[in-house]
Amino acid sequence: MKHQTTLELKTDEVPDWPMYIDGEWVTSEGGGWTDAVCPSRTDTVLARVPEGTAADVDRAVAAARKAQPAWAAQHFTARQKVLNAIADSLEEHAEELSVLTAQDTGNALRTQARPESATLVALFRYFAGVAGEFKGTVLPAGDNQLQYTRIEPLGVVGAILPWNSPLMIAAMKIPAALAAGNTLVVKPAEDAPLTILRMAEIAAEHLPAGVLNIVTGFGETVGDAIVRHEGINKVSFTGSSEVGRLVGGVAGGRIVATSLELGGKSPNIVFPSAASPERIEETAAGCLLAMRFTRQGQSCTAGSRLFVHEDVYEEFLEVLARHVGALKVGDPLDEDTDMGTIISAKQHAQVCEYVEEGKQQEGVRVILDGSNPDVEGLEGYYQGPTILAGASNEWRISREEVFGPVLVVIPWREVDEVVAMANDSHYGLAAFVWSADLDEAIGTAHRIESGWVQVNQGGGQVVGQSYGGYKDSGIGREFSLEGAIAGFTQTKQINVKLG
Ligand code: NAD
Repeated sequence: MKHQTTLELKTDEVPDWPMYIDGEWVTSEGGGWTDAVCPSRTDTVLARVPEGTAADVDRAVAAARKAQPAWAAQHFTARQKVLNAIADSLEEHAEELSVLTAQDTGNALRTQARPESATLVALFRYFAGVAGEFKGTVLPAGDNQLQYTRIEPLGVVGAILPWNSPLMIAAMKIPAALAAGNTLVVKPAEDAPLTILRMAEIAAEHLPAGVLNIVTGFGETVGDAIVRHEGINKVSFTGSSEVGRLVGGVAGGRIVATSLELGGKSPNIVFPSAASPERIEETAAGCLLAMRFTRQGQSCTAGSRLFVHEDVYEEFLEVLARHVGALKVGDPLDEDTDMGTIISAKQHAQVCEYVEEGKQQEGVRVILDGSNPDVEGLEGYYQGPTILAGASNEWRISREEVFGPVLVVIPWREVDEVVAMANDSHYGLAAFVWSADLDEAIGTAHRIESGWVQVNQGGGQVVGQSYGGYKDSGIGREFSLEGAIAGFTQTKQINVKLG
């Protein structure tokens, strides 16, 4: 079976998109299918994908195990060539992948989907480039000793993906694992499987059968079967802390390598000097980016707790509200749209519930309320940006990950106080610090308990950087060579007595 490569937004004919196991496009052993619904036009089913089962995971793991030794045995330049060829093909299809991302996830084409495809290509190129760096060391142990290490692949990696930016997160795992000599069984999120299937179809042209396998389906069946499968040597999971805890528990019980990229509730600290007349516009625009409003706030690194110093609180709120209020919510495929849609009815209902609860809090000031935006007759899970000021760090909406376009703004006076509030969270993924005084900014950055702190910028994720969480935000690092060596390899020491 093959799937068509472009999707028309039709309501009458729904194509079947099979999954990819052992070099073949296949249906599920159980015969079930699930609908991939377009979140920006909820009357449209984009395609049906197989509802995978544990038996499908078995088939995929067997294929990946069979393919792994030969994949790992090659000279690294052979893997490098393949990864570069995949990057070139993905780049040729970047616009198609971006449109599909907008359809499948609701992320706006211009602001979000295109940058995601670009990051996918960049990460394949990056890991192609460093493929020769998975190398060991030699100990100076005397002339009659050869003592060296080999950096070896783990074997078969089970990669479990979320729905919020599927291509970017797949790109943190697939090229890194392949460069190190592993093979993979990948499970896309049930709410956004299509871009991953299409990416696999493009990549598959360059890969031997079994090296990359995609099994679609639900977390409780396919995801669970991957985590428990004795043929899986590493679980690389990105998703919620709740499911991550479960996955980590099972994988830990099996004593297999595990990395968990989980949720966040990241602090965003504005010092008075960052809100001076010369800097206030840039800082407000940066806070908009940091909050990931253009991904509807559906980002684990969203700076969703904004701490603004009392001296500049009112003027900063005013400028921020002007920037955020100007965002256009609409059809993700429209070039004018800044913000697309929430992924699903369930997620949309949850975001609305948080907003309603936040609006009921004592002392709250509703600066912007994004409920029920007008989107020109389209039926979808649209939600505009919401800003709630006068917030307390204790409110549920300030403590839990909303995963929607909802920002709480909390005033502060003393540096120790704001650092304490920033760190008073079970999460520790990202953070943002804004100040014209670099000593003050960097001093604060060093005190924040997060895996990634940005100073005076809100976007800025660069290929090759360290990426991962402190505390409940996860274990392990991806996105970089160091992270890949720690996460996708194991070290063997060899000691040889010579003559
Ligand atoms: P989720 O935890 O509900 O699902 C993630 C994946 O896990 C899905 O593929 C799902 O099918 C699978 N899954 C569900 N139950 C499972 C089980 N019992 N065993 C194995 N797999 C199972 O998360 P989501 O709603 O898809 O994504 C949103 C969450 O992901 C947010 O909390 C967000 O912060 C987090 N996230 C983290 C990062 C990061 O890099 N730290 C990046 C993106 C998203």
